[in-house]
Amino acid sequence: MQITRPHAAMFASPGMGHIIPVIELGKRLAGTHGFQVTIFVLEADAASAQSQFLNSPGCDVTLIDIIGLPSPDISGLVDPSAFFAIKLLTMMRKTIPTLRSKIEEMQHKPTALIVDLFGLDALRLGEEFNMLTYVFMTTNARFLAVALYFPTLEKDVEDEHIIKKKPLAIPGCEPVRFEDTLETLLDRTDQIYQVFVPFGLVFPTADGIIVNTWDDMEPKTLKSLRDPNLLGRIARVPLYPIGPLCRPVDPSKTNHPVLDWLNKQPDESVLYISFGSGGSLSATQLTELAWGLELSQQRFVWVVHPPVDGSSCSEYISANSSEVQDGTPQYLPKEFTSRTHERGLVVSSWAPQAEILAHQAVGGFLTHCGWNSILESVVSGVPMIAWPLFAEQKMNATLLNEELGVAIRSRKLPSEEVVLRVEIESLVRRIMVEEEGCEMREKVKKLKDTAEMSLSCDSGSSYESLSRVAKECDRLLERDIMARGA
Ligand code: UDP
Repeated sequence: MQITRPHAAMFASPGMGHIIPVIELGKRLAGTHGFQVTIFVLEADAASAQSQFLNSPGCDVTLIDIIGLPSPDISGLVDPSAFFAIKLLTMMRKTIPTLRSKIEEMQHKPTALIVDLFGLDALRLGEEFNMLTYVFMTTNARFLAVALYFPTLEKDVEDEHIIKKKPLAIPGCEPVRFEDTLETLLDRTDQIYQVFVPFGLVFPTADGIIVNTWDDMEPKTLKSLRDPNLLGRIARVPLYPIGPLCRPVDPSKTNHPVLDWLNKQPDESVLYISFGSGGSLSATQLTELAWGLELSQQRFVWVVHPPVDGSSCSEYISANSSEVQDGTPQYLPKEFTSRTHERGLVVSSWAPQAEILAHQAVGGFLTHCGWNSILESVVSGVPMIAWPLFAEQKMNATLLNEELGVAIRSRKLPSEEVVLRVEIESLVRRIMVEEEGCEMREKVKKLKDTAEMSLSCDSGSSYESLSRVAKECDRLLERDIMARGA
């Protein structure tokens, strides 16, 4: 077999928030930089990864292979009540021997191994198979900065932040307010703290860190991560900001009832509401959100998940059977669908989000602030209402609201307190009809332009970053070929 192109093996963590950006990175490596790409996912995700890939054209499909690895049995290893991230991490760790055998069997040996956050342990395969190794942060530079810096803290500095609730000063970056801090860092005795904190020490063992961001999105943090006198001293390996990686979409070529409905709405008149692939609200909060939307009198598309506490909307319990027949889910106020159907659409569980955000009828996004959702909103020029739930989402909301000025948010922390309908009504009106929303729309459109420039193959910064990764891989491949030919 004559080998002429570098081969990237990618190991993706479960969940669409990881799989979608890994596939997009794979497509960029194959389509623009001539790589062969193999994406390893856990078997349970293989079908959705495959359909996600096929639904997202943009490169020669023969260059990308998606391989499902048997999902390991982790019962007995992890307490069933353990934090979700511990389960993910244990599954990824248990899968490494299978990944190793697959790599060993490959005729076209990978030149590079790219792992995301929960697959960090696989980096050790790099040396064994003489592969370059890269960590791919599917989230942002700010999360990376916290993850790298936290393990270096003196105990008393950590106490100031976690116990005394003072902002955490990170060299060269905006301080992290206590309210925004990751839950995983709050309790030293918790297993998730003990697992998460050492992650930051593992990043510098790779040959580079690839981040799904770009300079205009996170200027201060990226500058610090590159500066050897600031966070660069801790990162120690090259940083490659290559974002935004988003699935290219064309809403006019997508068949879906939501898009048919959007086609009939005026430009920039619809608020899209989604809490990501897994985010849910309490029954009480869902009720308030439904009423807030109704009171706002604005058009909306709402991707709704059942409440996280499993209870029903209290207003619904008394509903008689005829009242539930209008299609309103059991957990929303009775007759919500009947009352709002002329200007709103409720979708259960899943919708083609990237296409919806790119549709000209959408003018605002109420989002849980998952990083992919944020990027999809920015590349579509859509301002946001930030409604963070967990993980790094609170830091993301602060970035959008205070640093970039492209989102508004509740004064409350929606993950901890109920945001009442009157405030929701006001948030919706502020982003959809008031001057403030128009100004944010202008700002986010400018940010969108910077995203396009960064990806341009005419010296865009993200394009250049990924080209540098590709060149490193080309050099290793040439050395390998020469060694074998010698
Ligand atoms: N997504 C989608 N339809 C949905 C919900 C989510 O297509 O109904 C996609 C969304 O476009 C994004 C990803 O799933 O690409 C969610 O990633 P994000 O980082 O925003 O949040 P997570 O789900 O990881 O919390």
